[in-house]
Amino acid sequence: MNRDYSPIMPAPRPGKPPAAVAATAGTAALARQTPAGQLIRPASQERRGNWTAPQTNAKDRVAAFNQAEEADTLAELEHRSASEVLAWAVERFGSRLGLCSSFQAEGCVLIDLAVRLDPSIRVFTIDTGRLMAESYELIERMRERYRVEIESFAPDTEALERMVSRHGPNLFYRDVELRLLCCQVRKVLPLRRALGNFSAWATGLRREQWATRAQVRKAAIDHQHGGIVKLAPLADWSETQVWEYIAAHNVPYNPLYDRGFKSIGCAPCTRPVAPTDHPRQGRWWWENNAAKECGMHHCATRTAALDDDLATLPRSDRPQPPAAHRAGTEARR
Ligand code: SF4
Repeated sequence: MNRDYSPIMPAPRPGKPPAAVAATAGTAALARQTPAGQLIRPASQERRGNWTAPQTNAKDRVAAFNQAEEADTLAELEHRSASEVLAWAVERFGSRLGLCSSFQAEGCVLIDLAVRLDPSIRVFTIDTGRLMAESYELIERMRERYRVEIESFAPDTEALERMVSRHGPNLFYRDVELRLLCCQVRKVLPLRRALGNFSAWATGLRREQWATRAQVRKAAIDHQHGGIVKLAPLADWSETQVWEYIAAHNVPYNPLYDRGFKSIGCAPCTRPVAPTDHPRQGRWWWENNAAKECGMHHCATRTAALDDDLATLPRSDRPQPPAAHRAGTEARR
């Protein structure tokens, strides 16, 4: 397996931690390094396979990351490279860091970068049940190439059965509200459950992907998910940089990119685009005037109709609407 450091982050000298790690040494015990520069976590941070470990609630996790004292660190990370951001997160959060990948080009780059820093990095994905066959094949290739366990989160069975029974399997084509409901059940709620296992998560978001992502920060507090830390190490990367990295490091990627796809999600909601089209135009292409977002990274607009549908979901898995919307709903009652 290729463990060379990328040009983005020079190989650290033996015995000396990467700059970002050294700069934050006060916040956690320093990891040791092998001569090749790989980090070895202190025993306290070893992976414990803590799927079954006791879960902290959101309040505890906010306390674990001291926003008051560490806000400067998050701001500083804005000026750091992707590898430096990941190195800081690996050191700061250990096995409480989760790398979320949907196995698009960015997610594959992120895994390649992260495994160089920590071969035991925790990677997770949301399996909506409607992914492309090629995406599942890519997951197999990534598992083999990087020797990582890819933790998979699926939709709640009861919620899925109710939704499909009530609205049919292809509800998303009929109305934006129904599409958002499907994304909520198949993506957003499983993500929320997954994030209960982590104090920080990293994503492959880039600012130039879509207007809704233009303000993405490399490191920020994720208020949508209980105040854990959300990282977007590739936030300032261009599409060209992503593909240059993939070529330079022989990173596996989805073959659908070679067939005209530029952004790859669920099979029924993704199609190839023309070379001059924006990559996100192939997602939910039948919708007009709707944000091309599923709600995992963006507060989707909700209406009373969607709330009614969500009310049929199991109570424990029901999402909390944003405060502003909640106030509007209550006023209508
Ligand atoms: S992308 Fe399509 S199939 Fe996938 S969760 Fe959203 S609406 Fe459902």
